[in-house]
Amino acid sequence: MDKYIEDVYNESLRRNPIQPEFQQAVREVLESVEPLLAARKDYRDAAILARIIEPERQIMFRVAWEDDQNNVHVNRGYRIQFNSALGQYKGGLRFHQSVTLSVVKFLGFEQIFKNALTGQGIGGGKGGSDFDPHGKSDNEVMRFCQAFMTELSRHIGADVDVPAGDIGVGAREIGYLFGQYKRLANRNEAGVLTGKGLNWGGSLVRTQATGYGLVTFAQAMLGEKGEDMDGKKVIVSGSGNVATYAIEKAHALGAQAISISDSSGAVYDPDGIDVELLKQVKEVERGRVSDYAARRPNAQFRAGEHVWSIAGDIALPCATQNEMNEADVATLVNNGVKLIAEGANMPLTPDAIEAAQRSHILYAPGKAANAGGVATSALEMQQNAGMAQWAFEKVEDRLRAIMLDIHRECLETADEYGKPGDYMVGANIAGFRKVADAMLDQGVI
Ligand code: NDP
Repeated sequence: MDKYIEDVYNESLRRNPIQPEFQQAVREVLESVEPLLAARKDYRDAAILARIIEPERQIMFRVAWEDDQNNVHVNRGYRIQFNSALGQYKGGLRFHQSVTLSVVKFLGFEQIFKNALTGQGIGGGKGGSDFDPHGKSDNEVMRFCQAFMTELSRHIGADVDVPAGDIGVGAREIGYLFGQYKRLANRNEAGVLTGKGLNWGGSLVRTQATGYGLVTFAQAMLGEKGEDMDGKKVIVSGSGNVATYAIEKAHALGAQAISISDSSGAVYDPDGIDVELLKQVKEVERGRVSDYAARRPNAQFRAGEHVWSIAGDIALPCATQNEMNEADVATLVNNGVKLIAEGANMPLTPDAIEAAQRSHILYAPGKAANAGGVATSALEMQQNAGMAQWAFEKVEDRLRAIMLDIHRECLETADEYGKPGDYMVGANIAGFRKVADAMLDQGVI
């Protein structure tokens, strides 16, 4: 690492002790942008690096709520308004017991560059809570969402900060959050949240967008090698929003997804994942992947295991951060995997990324490959601003065009900085440069 960059990194370590996920995300970006920093003295003079890794605002708050037995619970809420150089803060809310300040900061930091890559004029933010929606009744989830939004509502707005879903925050939670915001604000401000229901301001394709965009990106990567998805076996982790619609799109392009997982274990389904059954189990019944496996003749549920020992051509990690390590990559490559594209945010550990690069397989980071979700959220904001609802085909065409633009920009930028085919360097430099240039224009703030 260059001395100047190392100094900035060490200062960040000093200032943010015990934030491993955040430091991991910062380190990856700092290492990638080294050649850019070498060429841009103006970035150093304006301390862009030190400013870009410091959130503009960090909000932490108490969320007190009552369960169905009138027991009082206390959770912690977060909203990190990381960078507004390109537009209002934009990024999801995660409700999961593993949420900490470090997790929300890493997600917010990644979001800055992802949002820049979409070209949609949105800044970066992220939020959430250590609340676990699993096993809670609808009424308990509603009371939690209302308590959470009561504080969050002071800090967001269509032109200020626009949250959306993430792990544990789907259509149900967005509905309760929007209802409470409307009650407090006393106005129908549709653009304050994205991922809304289709009959109250939502956009067609938003539900599918991250998974569809991911597979569009993977297809473009294969296209560079003269290949496509047709006939490929796809190993998918996770079983939520991103995983489900990645599988649906992979099947539409002639591939066959053969696995899913959740925090209790992995499912191998050699006949190909039945997407309609998966939606029924996960979206309607709120069940587990073991419930899916029980209804499929040849599927195996492997308790406590990951999906990475299953053989296939393509791996799409779509569950959570650091879910694939160096040994997993070695196993995947030995078993024939030629491409890894991140549906989740930061699912590969730093060692796993290095292993993928050493093996010369295709690897795409989440900030490029999973940008379809937030890109479509920006399209939802555009529809809200114009009081319009676009047709499914129109939104899907726009999503596809954005993903192909990001793909092209990653490759062109990687070429420009002497790292041909390196999607990580391409994504980090292309995203960073857009934000840094806007920060230069806007002065020292
Ligand atoms: P969902 O809540 O819909 O699904 C998450 C899935 O991942 C579930 O199957 C969940 O299983 C599993 N999972 C979560 N944590 C763990 C864990 N610690 N170990 C094993 N499995 C786990 O979330 P999404 O599909 O929306 O999000 C998945 C990933 O994609 C996240 O990294 C998110 O940040 C990223 N992403 C999401 C976008 C979106 O539009 N939704 C956009 C861009 C990125 P279980 O139920 O057992 O916890």
